[in-house]
Amino acid sequence: MPATPAWPPRSAPRLFVAGPLAEGAQLAVEGQQAHYLAKVMHVAPGDAVIACDDATGEWACEVVSAGKRDVVLAARQRLRPREAVPDFTLCAALLKKPNFDLVLEKATELGVARIQPLVTRRCVADKLNPERAAAIVTEAAEQCARTALPVLEPVTRLEALLRDWPQERTLFFADEQGGAPAAAAFAAQAGPAALLVGPEGGFDEAERALVRGHPQARAITLGPRILRAETACVAATALWMASAGDWSGTQS
Ligand code: SAM
Repeated sequence: MPATPAWPPRSAPRLFVAGPLAEGAQLAVEGQQAHYLAKVMHVAPGDAVIACDDATGEWACEVVSAGKRDVVLAARQRLRPREAVPDFTLCAALLKKPNFDLVLEKATELGVARIQPLVTRRCVADKLNPERAAAIVTEAAEQCARTALPVLEPVTRLEALLRDWPQERTLFFADEQGGAPAAAAFAAQAGPAALLVGPEGGFDEAERALVRGHPQARAITLGPRILRAETACVAATALWMASAGDWSGTQS
């Protein structure tokens, strides 16, 4: 079925699938995704589903069959190529579970390329369930119609992150004790970027000194108030997207 202004409908269910997708290719979705399509969205043969494979882009698919165990889709037409993702990594210290879930969800919606969960000395959590985190990120990407998933890096310690830091990437260090105003710092420094945000208790003095002494680090302030870590992640990511990312009409 060729895509027309009315097909696929905007209300068609959207999901990331294991690809790659290609015109005419059929794929069977199983498990939770089949349950969602068949039991929650009540899809039937002939209905439209919008599928992304995180490689070739977004496809209008037609439901071929909807069974108890799987839903078979046929890719009909590519609607959009995979998006160009601004080169921005959010390096966020682990937080209490609901707060870090929020960071994963909002960072995905805001358009980050990568999320790097970190363990620092004052972290109250030191583990992240990778499957659960990937599910949160995928659901957020589906909800906001991204065609690319952010890369979810394995949890690492701050010291290891800094030791292996790539020379070409600026590390904006959100420091509640002060730094350059964030908007001006982002606008002044084009190119691959990352944002470092601490845990509920902040960084200890040794960590602050280590980060501040790093050649690629630029300390920034997010204003005179001490923000919750999740607020700092969201606010600074949004600000970077507006100054240097894809909210400004230019790509970094
Ligand atoms: N325990 C710290 C204190 O009371 O001073 C506050 C830590 S804050 C809740 C968590 C993290 O958010 C900080 O480590 C920092 O990265 C970031 N942050 C919060 N407010 C900030 C601000 N005004 N400017 C820059 N970064 C901020």
